[in-house]
Amino acid sequence: MMAALLLRRDKKSTAAHLKSDLNRTDNSSGVRQLQELLDSVLNPEKPAADTEALDWCKCLIAGGEGFEEFCKTVRSYDNATLCGLVWTANFVAYRCRTCGISPCMSLCAECFNNGDHTGHDFNMFRSQAGGACDCGDSNVMRETGFCRRHRLRTGENVPSVPRDLLLMSEMVLPRFIICIIQYLRDGYTEPDTSTERDLQKVLQQLEPQISFLEELTKMGGAMRTVLTKILTNQQTFKDLSMGQEENVFAKKNYENYLSALKNSGLVSVEEKAQTGAAEPTRGSETGALGLLDTVVIILPIMFFLKEDQDGGQSIGQRKRVKLSGTTKDPSIMDSLKHKCFLEELLFWTIKYEFPQKMVTFLLNMLPDQDYKITFTKTFVQHYAFIMKTLMKSHESDTMSNRIVHISVQLFSNEDLARHVTEECQLLDIMVTVLLYMMESCLIKSELQDEENSRHVVVNCSEALLKNNTYWPLVSDFINILSHQSVAKKFLEDHSLLMLWMSFVSFFQGMNLNKRELSEHVEFESQTYYAAFAAELEACAQPMWGLLTHCKVKETQEYTKTVVRYCLETLQIWFDAIGFVDELAPNQVTFHLPLHRYYAMFLSKAVKCQGLDLDSLLPDQEMLMRIMVHPLQIQASLSEIHSNMWVRNGLQIKGQAMTYVQSHFCNSMIDPDIFLLQVCASRLDPDYFISSVFERFKVVDLLTMASVHQNTVLDGEQERPMLEGALTFLVILSSLRIHLGMADDEILRAEMVSQLCMNDRTHSSLLDLIPENPNPKSGIVPGSCSFEEMLSAVADFKAPVFELGGSMQQGMYTPKAEVWEKEFDPIMVILRTVYRRDVQSAMDRYSAFLKQSGMHTTGNPWPPYKERTPLHPCYKGLDRLLHCKTLHIVIFTLLYKIWLDHSNMSEHVLCMVLYLIELGLDNQVEEDKGDEEPCIEEHCHDSWFPGTNLLSNLHHVINYVRVRVPETAPEVKREREPPASTSAEASNFGQNVREAQVFSLVAERRRKFQEIINRSSTEASQAVRPKSSSTRWVPPGTPPQLVTEILEIHESMLSLLIKLHQKLSAKQNSLSATWLEDMDANPNRHVHGDGITAIERILTKAATRSHQSKRSIQEICGKVFPPVAPKKNSPTAKKTMDKEERRQRARERQQKLLAEFASRQKSFMETAMDVESPDTEAAMDLGASEVKESEVLYDCVICGQSGPSTEDRPTGLVVLLQASSVLGHRRKSDEAKKLPTTDEEHIYPADTCGAVHDVRLALMQSFFKDSSCLQSVSIGWDGGVYVQTCGHTLHIDCHKSYMESLRNDQVMQGFSVDKGEFTCPLCRQFANSVLPCRPGRSTEVVSWHMPSNKKTSVLVKEVEDLQEQLGLFPVSTTTESNLSKEMELVIKDIKNTTQRKYMDYGKNPGSPDNDFLFMYSVARTNLELELVHRGGNLCSGGASGAAKRSCLNQLFHVLAMHMRLYSIDSAYNPWTRLTQVAPSRDDCLVDERPEVPMLFRDCPSLLIIFVLTMPQPLRKEHFICLVRMLYNLQYTQALAALSAKFSPEERQAWSTSGTLKKNAFNAEKSYEALLSHVITELSKVKTVYDVNTEEPFMLSTSVWSPQSIEYSLQQCCLPYLRLSCLLQHHLYGDNLSGCPEEEEFSGLAGCLGLLDPAPQPSNPMYSASCLDWTVSAFDLMSQWCSEVTGLADTQTLLVQDLQWASPHLLQLPDNYNTIFQYYHKKACTACKKVPKDPALCLICGTFVCLKGLCCKQQGICECVWHSQHCGAATGIFLLINASVIIIIRGHRFCLWGSVYLDAHGEEDRDLRRGKPLFLCVERYRVLEQQWVSHTFDHINKRWGPHYNGL
Ligand SMILES: [Zn+2]
Ligand SMILES: [Zn+2]
Ligand SMILES: [Zn+2]
Ligand SMILES: [Zn+2]
Ligand SMILES: [Zn+2]
Ligand SMILES: [Zn+2]
Ligand SMILES: [Zn+2]
Ligand SMILES: [Zn+2]
Repeated sequence: MMAALLLRRDKKSTAAHLKSDLNRTDNSSGVRQLQELLDSVLNPEKPAADTEALDWCKCLIAGGEGFEEFCKTVRSYDNATLCGLVWTANFVAYRCRTCGISPCMSLCAECFNNGDHTGHDFNMFRSQAGGACDCGDSNVMRETGFCRRHRLRTGENVPSVPRDLLLMSEMVLPRFIICIIQYLRDGYTEPDTSTERDLQKVLQQLEPQISFLEELTKMGGAMRTVLTKILTNQQTFKDLSMGQEENVFAKKNYENYLSALKNSGLVSVEEKAQTGAAEPTRGSETGALGLLDTVVIILPIMFFLKEDQDGGQSIGQRKRVKLSGTTKDPSIMDSLKHKCFLEELLFWTIKYEFPQKMVTFLLNMLPDQDYKITFTKTFVQHYAFIMKTLMKSHESDTMSNRIVHISVQLFSNEDLARHVTEECQLLDIMVTVLLYMMESCLIKSELQDEENSRHVVVNCSEALLKNNTYWPLVSDFINILSHQSVAKKFLEDHSLLMLWMSFVSFFQGMNLNKRELSEHVEFESQTYYAAFAAELEACAQPMWGLLTHCKVKETQEYTKTVVRYCLETLQIWFDAIGFVDELAPNQVTFHLPLHRYYAMFLSKAVKCQGLDLDSLLPDQEMLMRIMVHPLQIQASLSEIHSNMWVRNGLQIKGQAMTYVQSHFCNSMIDPDIFLLQVCASRLDPDYFISSVFERFKVVDLLTMASVHQNTVLDGEQERPMLEGALTFLVILSSLRIHLGMADDEILRAEMVSQLCMNDRTHSSLLDLIPENPNPKSGIVPGSCSFEEMLSAVADFKAPVFELGGSMQQGMYTPKAEVWEKEFDPIMVILRTVYRRDVQSAMDRYSAFLKQSGMHTTGNPWPPYKERTPLHPCYKGLDRLLHCKTLHIVIFTLLYKIWLDHSNMSEHVLCMVLYLIELGLDNQVEEDKGDEEPCIEEHCHDSWFPGTNLLSNLHHVINYVRVRVPETAPEVKREREPPASTSAEASNFGQNVREAQVFSLVAERRRKFQEIINRSSTEASQAVRPKSSSTRWVPPGTPPQLVTEILEIHESMLSLLIKLHQKLSAKQNSLSATWLEDMDANPNRHVHGDGITAIERILTKAATRSHQSKRSIQEICGKVFPPVAPKKNSPTAKKTMDKEERRQRARERQQKLLAEFASRQKSFMETAMDVESPDTEAAMDLGASEVKESEVLYDCVICGQSGPSTEDRPTGLVVLLQASSVLGHRRKSDEAKKLPTTDEEHIYPADTCGAVHDVRLALMQSFFKDSSCLQSVSIGWDGGVYVQTCGHTLHIDCHKSYMESLRNDQVMQGFSVDKGEFTCPLCRQFANSVLPCRPGRSTEVVSWHMPSNKKTSVLVKEVEDLQEQLGLFPVSTTTESNLSKEMELVIKDIKNTTQRKYMDYGKNPGSPDNDFLFMYSVARTNLELELVHRGGNLCSGGASGAAKRSCLNQLFHVLAMHMRLYSIDSAYNPWTRLTQVAPSRDDCLVDERPEVPMLFRDCPSLLIIFVLTMPQPLRKEHFICLVRMLYNLQYTQALAALSAKFSPEERQAWSTSGTLKKNAFNAEKSYEALLSHVITELSKVKTVYDVNTEEPFMLSTSVWSPQSIEYSLQQCCLPYLRLSCLLQHHLYGDNLSGCPEEEEFSGLAGCLGLLDPAPQPSNPMYSASCLDWTVSAFDLMSQWCSEVTGLADTQTLLVQDLQWASPHLLQLPDNYNTIFQYYHKKACTACKKVPKDPALCLICGTFVCLKGLCCKQQGICECVWHSQHCGAATGIFLLINASVIIIIRGHRFCLWGSVYLDAHGEEDRDLRRGKPLFLCVERYRVLEQQWVSHTFDHINKRWGPHYNGL
């Protein structure tokens, strides 16, 4: 009742009235009234779209005031000290690493710009998931980085809020919020029946309401406090949520809510309590668990149990997972209870999949601290539910972004994160939810024992992994682990760690590869991306997070715990997959996260925490197992490179590359190598070495026999596998990354290895350096920064521009001393993804040596580099180098290399020598060697006496027993003993006992058995049935093998010396005394080839052991038989030859390529360089071959040479393009500035194109259209420019060439259908062929002969010739092939530009238009050539550009076409130019007058005359034309000049000139003529009237004779230039250069207007060039009278003839200036901020790239603009990418960037966000390419744009 009454009243007064009621002490009636009003206003049964409710709320809240005013008042009480600005995806924000405490810190642009970050490590970035400004939050960033506003702590000075201001809000808003919630409840239906759209609809309707909430948050702290109170108040929620009893709608509504909860798999707590009893099954599971103190973590156990519930033993082992202690709430996954609005609101936000508006509202509230805490708790409480929803969502990407948008705000704050960790079990929730997520996609592992495996792994082909759906969760987890306090909690909680390890084990062994042995895989699965991403993100990232908190002694316990659980989990894993000791064959997985966790925590423990390694290691048996899988990966890498996995397709290579590549190596290969190093340092070295060779499958190869069988490898795989094994051993024993190198050292080594491979840009280097252990940037105390290190090892090469068009970036290259001392080939090998990078590093290294003179002959070997000493814990690693097994291998290989056995290579020798040298440099302490028990019975022990390499080096091996096939050469030799051995026959018999057999396999097994037996006593028991020894017998030993005894009598030293001889190809290459000579220069040994390496080793051995020294001297002293007994064994020779041939072929190919490149480059240069004379013209063209009787052309297709004939015409390869370059010229030579504020603008009115358009339009409004169209030129905008590469071809050859292109499917970048092709010779882009005029050049010469005829005679002859126009027969009257082709090219020319650039006349399509267009084509090309020559002809000469010019041919073609038109002789301007005729009044009767001569454009007239006269035109006639037109041009100049005078000056000059009229030569006196013109024009007042209004620019300075002459010359110069250029092209006259100030006289002389000899007496050249055939004064009077008869046309008198060179816009130095203004600027067409804004660099127009918003007629705005601004050529700067794209017709290309960072690099897409600065050189190049129309030729990667840009 009351409500109804109120409703009818005015809202404002009602609100005021209610407010005062409520302010009373007894406010009960007010409250009641308000409630009743709200009941009816906020009725959720009304449609949400009804805005009435919202209006009411606004009014009520404002309490009678205007809402806007109310907002202002509330804002004045804002006490917030935080910025908190919330943004969504794509917003541009800043991050400062110097100021940030959390790595997630971000700032809005305003706060960033108002803070001081000079010299900080900051960058701009585009937000992906959205974010909020952290300014003012000292938990996230350092206070020094706050902006001015938020540093002030405004909160302190703000007065407290008056009580009544927000009273109404407090009353109304709860009702408003419940109303929204009710709408949400009501609108919700389960989205199982494609009702997604319904959800969207509900949200759409609610948009105004939610926006209103957001608006409220922006009122500042005071309003946020009110909202917080309402949102978190439990009582209000209780009162309103269920609705009143009698309200049926509210009840139904509430039930809807409950069912939504239920359907989500959630049970509210009350409900659970009710149903718990009713459902005993469920209750017993969850309820009971919830109550017990000791809780079994149910999830992981279930994962393991699923597969085998019967195996009692295995269950026993599962029990390890059972934990006791802390209470874990299994209800994490399935219970929720809402106690306040905020909670239910969040629930619906999730249910509706995070609507953007709602997210922004919730985030906008965050500056309120109370809210922030409650909200964080609520978020955590809903965490499991969020993830469940995410997994089900169809748009998980969007949702993920929105989730992280929220969570990153909450979890980046350490206090808050710790708080919720302590109070809400955040860690438990996260880990449980992660487990829950992964549980959904587990499969049985097929690793090892496919049948019986009990291990489960994630299935990488599941959407969850493929789409990376888990990332928000993982990223939250990593985020909270970055807080020390939270990480500590995690590390202290054993049950959590255990849970986590079981999570990690889900990834252990995933994505298993099985080697295909028979057939190629049909389907290459790409699951490996998912697998690597999962391990790196879900396992490695958290690991690195945890490791950052385990850096000091105090945290030892954490590490110990992690290591313990790691080992336990590994043990479980080995058991689960059924691994005993043999690996299943032909399998490999790259994913061993458990191993890597173990490895990295070990490394940290030793390096930073001072823990003893042995205390963290398991027993030997476990170590042997741990070693197996990482080792298998190393062997597989080698197999993959040896092409043993080709049948598995490309993806396996992808895995190998990903595994080693530098972005991930710190989490993948490095831990593996480290773990293997740990194993090697603790296990028996003989066992380890033999395991390596066995795993690499090269055991069979390691025999002394010349022939062997290999049961596992193909012949061609043996060598690469052997190389792989040796390389691996070298890496293993020399790498020190985790074994003693400091962080700085590591960074330096990484940097050096990357720089040695290639010069790098700063960013790519930054990218290539592994982040851990060194953070890439930021200030890390105690460690060298990236920048310092970089400047220590590298030199900067500034970006240079190469003329060929390739754009260089700033590069870093290693310093000379780095090459000399630090180049480490081993590190390079470890870090290279592609083999070619190793080669590249070696090439660069040898180039350096050659250049510095350190090694000049042949190819150097990789240098040996001394290593950082081992950390004492890892000393055991050196034993690898000092074990008999390795020495036997070394001995065998040296022997085989010496004898040229098959499959040996330089690389093998290199690695062997490396191992020897490493052994010499890393001696094992003596006492350890003694400990080794020497057990006689072991078969190999008789090879060497001990384990020390130094003593084994000189040990002589006499006999070796080998097992060889019966066919081997050794066998034969034994049967028929040669004479040499028979002499020692007696000896032989005795020594047979010393003969030694060696089998690596047997060795490994023996050792294994030994170790197992030893440890079996220590270990409790080995229950596991050991496989019997029968399993170890090699399957099917080939029976044909026989045992033979080889006579050797060599030591390693003697073999080395023999190899030295062999390599140097010299007998006795080392003299007995060489050792003494050596010591003089120790440095000589560092760089060099194999010989140097051997010498270095021998020297080292000699200095370290007397016995070795003696031995060396002895061997060297002996005289050897001729070198290399078997050097020329056929197989070896073959491989050598092959190598050599390949090498030679490679060199040849490179030479060819280089040649080709340089040839192309010179083409490029000639194409580019339009100014400098070209010494080497690529082609000989007509002009240069004048002396030939007939011009011959080479056809570049068929190769024949011949003349161009009517029948079989030849043509020039040309590119026709429309151009508006001329039209964009301006008077001023200074480029226009690109506007970067709203105040700046660009006006296009002063461009050449616009001025000409205005002029033509003005003429057309007064004069006859056809006459107008002959008085000007067009083509300033959209004119057709013709370019040629200078190559010619038969036109019929061209046609068949086009046909072949059409059939060629792989054409790219150009469209054959549009006639486009590339020149068959130089590959330059072209689209038409310009027919060449046939004819004899002698004939041409005769036509050129100058004559002495009088001018008046010539004038008459010209007139006669023009009369013949219509009748003049060109060589043929019938249609010949040539004339057909000529018409075709005319058609091409017309099609090149748009219609609107051809039709300027009033009657579209009239011949007048065509006529104008045709002669303007000639004008355009002449004008452009002038521009290319720098705007004048001072440089002169027949430049390279002229030789490639096709103007002569073009003129001919145009003339042929123009003869179709004739100018009515009555209107022929020639008459009016040369004769004084009576005025023809008859013309003026009904038509508009013709254009007066003074308004006509002289250059245009000249071209018209030349083109319309019979061809070829005699030079004398041409000169006559030029002279007559000069008279007109001069008169125009006088008229224009007089118009610039002030009336007084005019008067003065008029008077003074009159006196000279009667003097001699008055017709050539400027004063007399000027005076005459003034007098004539002054006859009608209006002529000079118009100018009086304008202030006189020059009135302050008096006109002097000099300034007048200068002005006249300037006015005539353009005409002279054009005439001269035309003469040059038509008659081949050379242009002579001259100084700029003498250009006028030079050109006049060239044209014969002036005597070539300068007349110093008379500097007034311009008038002396005049040549009158009739009275000058009469003629001038006639011309002037044409003007004075008219009104309002005075402005036409002054022509704008001088134009400066065209320029692109002037850009600001700092890119940020452009970016800040344009990235959020709205498009003027669609009024929206474009997603991809772009800027035309020619005119400054701002467009929506790719935007549908501005698409018209199917063409997007950018393409559209290119058509209108540049006649289909456009240059656009993409604002958001900082790059420039070029649009040319239907194609476009990415040009690159003209903005570079401090390191001289581009930053495409602004990914790095570092400050960028204009690179002036690049911009100049861009402009140059634009002006010279060479985009098509220089840029290579063009693609079609389909009008979609
Ligand atoms: Zn801010
Ligand atoms: Zn701020
Ligand atoms: Zn900063
Ligand atoms: Zn041909
Ligand atoms: Zn060419
Ligand atoms: Zn433009
Ligand atoms: Zn637009
Ligand atoms: Zn638009």
